[in-house]
Formats: sequence, C-alpha cells, structure tokens
Amino acid sequence: MTRYKHKPQRMCVACRKSQDKKSLTRLVRTPEGVVVDQTGKMTGRGAYLHENPECWERGVEKNLEKALNTTLSETNRAELIAFQETFINENED
Ligand SMILES: [Zn+2]
Repeated sequence: MTRYKHKPQRMCVACRKSQDKKSLTRLVRTPEGVVVDQTGKMTGRGAYLHENPECWERGVEKNLEKALNTTLSETNRAELIAFQETFINENED
C-alpha cells in the first residue's frame, strides 16, 4: 500500500482534461453502435467522458464521433443522451 501508486489517467474527449480512470465513464464502439461501458472491461475502441451534463452532451453531440472514428445514428445519440439520467441519480448517493 503506497500513496504514490500510479493511477491510470484518461482524457475526457469533451473538455480534454485528464483524470484518473474512475472519474470518467468509458464509451465503446461496437458493431451495434456506441455503448456505455459500465464494467470498464469491454473490448473495442473506447473514449472517456465526465459524468456531467456539459461534458456528456458536448461529447455525444460532437467529440465522440471523432474520438471513436464513427458516426452515431440518431437513435444511438438519443440513447447516449438519455443515459445521463442514470448517473445523475448515482451522484446523489
Ligand atoms: Zn470533461
């Protein structure tokens, strides 16, 4: 147990700030579209976003497609936008 243990840093594709992995939510490109990787263990090209409406919406509307080199369908985009509601509740813990 050392206080200096290195934590993996990941960058939010919306605000481009790096933080430790746990503070960010991973999204993964799959053949069915972009999904939220709630386990952090899905394989595939991934990108990270902060769980706040500003980063999330900017990411889903704009940066995510570039980061994942894909195009979101309107349905997929709407699903990802809707996902915000779940993490807002979690943060009220
Ligand atoms: Zn961010």
